[in-house]
Amino acid sequence: MTGAHGKENDVGKPMSRAGKLLCAVAAVALAGTVVTLSGCGQGKGAAQVDQARLLAADKEPGNWMSHGRTWSEQRFSPLDKVNASNVGNLGLAWSFQLSTNRGVEVTPVVVDGTMYVTSSWSVVYALNAKTGALLWKYDPQVPRETGKFACCDVVNRGVAVWKGKVYVAALDGRLIALDAKSGQPAWSVNTTDPKLPYTITGAPRVFKDKVVIGNGGSEYGVRGYVTAYDAADGKQLWRFYTTPGDPSKPQESKALEMAVKTWQGDWFKQGGGGGSPWDSMSYDPDLNMLYFGTGNGAPWDQTSRSKGQGDNLFLSSIVAVDADTGEYRWHYQTTPGDTWDFDSTQTVTLADLTIDGQPRKVLMQAAKNGFFYVIDRTNGKLLSAHNYVTTSWASSVDPATGRPIEQGDPRYKKGPAIVMPSSFGGHNWHPQSFSPKTGLVYLPAQDVPGVYGTDDKYAYKNGEWNTANDTRLNSLPDDKKARAAMKNSMRGMLVAWDPVAGKEAWRAEHKGPWNGGTMATAGGLVFQGTLDGKFNAYDASNGKPLWTTDAYAAVLAGPMTYEVDGEQYVAVGAGFGSVFYLVAGFALDHPGNPENGRILVYKLGGTATLPKPDMTKIAVPKPPADAASAQIVATGHATYNKYCLVCHGYNAIGGGVIPDLRYSSLIGDDTGFKGVVLRGDRKSNGMVSFASTLSATDADAIRAYLIHEANGAYAAEQAPAAK
Ligand code: CA
Repeated sequence: MTGAHGKENDVGKPMSRAGKLLCAVAAVALAGTVVTLSGCGQGKGAAQVDQARLLAADKEPGNWMSHGRTWSEQRFSPLDKVNASNVGNLGLAWSFQLSTNRGVEVTPVVVDGTMYVTSSWSVVYALNAKTGALLWKYDPQVPRETGKFACCDVVNRGVAVWKGKVYVAALDGRLIALDAKSGQPAWSVNTTDPKLPYTITGAPRVFKDKVVIGNGGSEYGVRGYVTAYDAADGKQLWRFYTTPGDPSKPQESKALEMAVKTWQGDWFKQGGGGGSPWDSMSYDPDLNMLYFGTGNGAPWDQTSRSKGQGDNLFLSSIVAVDADTGEYRWHYQTTPGDTWDFDSTQTVTLADLTIDGQPRKVLMQAAKNGFFYVIDRTNGKLLSAHNYVTTSWASSVDPATGRPIEQGDPRYKKGPAIVMPSSFGGHNWHPQSFSPKTGLVYLPAQDVPGVYGTDDKYAYKNGEWNTANDTRLNSLPDDKKARAAMKNSMRGMLVAWDPVAGKEAWRAEHKGPWNGGTMATAGGLVFQGTLDGKFNAYDASNGKPLWTTDAYAAVLAGPMTYEVDGEQYVAVGAGFGSVFYLVAGFALDHPGNPENGRILVYKLGGTATLPKPDMTKIAVPKPPADAASAQIVATGHATYNKYCLVCHGYNAIGGGVIPDLRYSSLIGDDTGFKGVVLRGDRKSNGMVSFASTLSATDADAIRAYLIHEANGAYAAEQAPAAK
């Protein structure tokens, strides 16, 4: 007996006792890709959320009806039954095993006793929030080859709900409305051109009968935009492009006529310049504005995008538009002329603060570039900006101009350089929270350096990795020393930031970077998970650790809390995956055989248990002889870094999510290896054919490089003195 450990495939099996009580008659209906258990615990109409209810969300704190609980995206819950005095009694109430085996970045939404969550590949689940019993599951059947265009894993951050419908944005660019009661599709629209390398991982937001969604793809070359659709039928209402189009043609708006003057070169021939708004959005009902963060430039290296000149609006910015029409209101660019993959897509938190004795309507962002911004959200004026992590590229932000003061050779004009923060960011998608009670922002922060260098051989290719950047560790003088230096300088910490004073109030150090999103509660608590599989609660006023539990998987997603039948629950997603696991395996301990992703739900006195996965380190199998010449291995290394690194990791060291190629039997099988790399034999797993870019000779060289790395790893393990 493993307590209430529910699984997706519990459908059709005997139900738990709690499930039986709620579902007097359980029926299993298979309808296309929808699995439904009808009549299970969905009372008074499912997901009946509307403008009035969301405006008054604080009057029903037991529900979490929007991605960040309220439109302000504060991720603060007024619930306080779980609090600093009793959080030590928190135990697992139930868990639910998701059916996909990649990163878990979802924030659950809970309305009237039903929880709506997503897993990787954009699969949606409706669960009984009290028991974890599956009510229905919807799989949009995203073609697995879409995974090639997902820089940062095939994740999904959650749904929006409105007037009986559940909205999910699928990885392949579809926005799909589901009936909240049955999980049956009501409508579906393509928000992106399927021929272009767009993906969507973010959660839609809904207000005033409009559902809004952005997109990602700036590592491949796309033109970013946010679109609003009619929540009832999917009709397009407005679209805001975040980069200008071909300068020889009329732009779509006055804002883009302004933006195009800040560009040079031929960005519009390289997919569109980037700026993809792939995560944060906040709606302000008082000012009737929608705020969203925009992504980095495409390609990363500004010299290849815009002749190294201009601010390149609206890249790496926070943009405010009219919520009804999508018309431009204002923008604030955190990184003018981005050349580091400094997306400004991190949580945009709205709050009312008193600054210098004046009440201010602000928005706050801890941008990837390492600065914490407080902005007057009525007009976009900078109120303050202070670095919250090490920022080697800029000393500070000039309060008069709002522009960063760059230092050294941050634009790597003189050759490859290690820069902090890096494309991982001082803070990334992991959501921050704000407590109006403490006045502090709780921020998953990190020091992670990155290598930047201009790729002299860069030529844009549609649908390929197009960063024009040489991010190879081995482009530095000593690749092994650089790797060790990078690993040693990595830090991860929960930072409590005082946005009025512009400084840190306290911090809790973690073992390493890439830790989870946060939630603050009126119970005086902050919740946060860690990369090494813990889920923790801290005293919100001073950072004292109050509770910890083992999740047996990385806890990176944003936690949330809700109430059913007078009992408070705390929920979080856990699972191995996300970009750090794909590229930075060298910074992780090989995690053995991790379980699939899970939703974990805790309550006071909870006694359920989790099955413990086998985390025994797997030995490197004996590889074929390392017989190729050093020159072929070096060629293979360079080609690997260009086409394979983004999923299979630096130095071919896997993070345990996507196959670690040093362990693969295919490296000793020429025909089998070419079948996968050049013919797409594993397309159904997401490994598409690279025949359009790689030759048989390239494949041979990559295989020789992998054999070389496998021999190195094998020898290290076999050495008697190996630690
Ligand atoms: Ca990016």
